[in-house]
Amino acid sequence: MRILVVEDEPTLQAQLAEGTRAAGYVVDLADNGVDAHFMGDTESYDAVVLDLGLPQMDGISVLRKWRAAARVMPVLILTARDGWHEKVAGIDAGADDYLTKPFHMEELLARLRALIRRAGGHASAELVCGALTLDTRNSRATVAGKALALTSHEYRVLAYLMHHRDEIISRNDLVEHIYAQDFDRDSNTVEVFIGRLRKKLPPGLIETVRGLGYRLTTPPPP
Ligand code: CA
Repeated sequence: MRILVVEDEPTLQAQLAEGTRAAGYVVDLADNGVDAHFMGDTESYDAVVLDLGLPQMDGISVLRKWRAAARVMPVLILTARDGWHEKVAGIDAGADDYLTKPFHMEELLARLRALIRRAGGHASAELVCGALTLDTRNSRATVAGKALALTSHEYRVLAYLMHHRDEIISRNDLVEHIYAQDFDRDSNTVEVFIGRLRKKLPPGLIETVRGLGYRLTTPPPP
């Protein structure tokens, strides 16, 4: 899962980058509203953490412009303490959730997980597909209760497919959601990750849809 973190205060930005990366997200960073708006408008993010007080363009304006352009990714806004009017304006502008500064990283991560799974139509923190279970709280995947050893890229590919199971996902979609903006992207590596995942997963779970991409298919109940 790939997220955009927008925060102009360097210490807080570094903490947010470290905390979200440690939780397994691919993270792009912006420290002003103009860059943030451009990135959210042109890149594919599974969620955005958006500070409201930003140089060049304030966070509310950034959010309004995204929503006016039908950019629907979940957005968590960061508001100042006692900023109840900011929360109201932010939610009215299209924010999905808010967090008041200062906050605990654990709470931010829990809210991000909830936003991302709700955007995929999932109510539970545990995603299940046949014998395969993915616990988004601790980034663990198990098959019939047995833990899978996955590299961070394999986990990202699997997590994206699990959040979008039964949908056809193109190689390009996967590339967009497993690499950060500054990474040298190569869609051939996606095939390598899929090949490795297939060796670790029950046979037939990841289907190749010729010419279109991949699909993680929910097996029929036994
Ligand atoms: Ca700020």
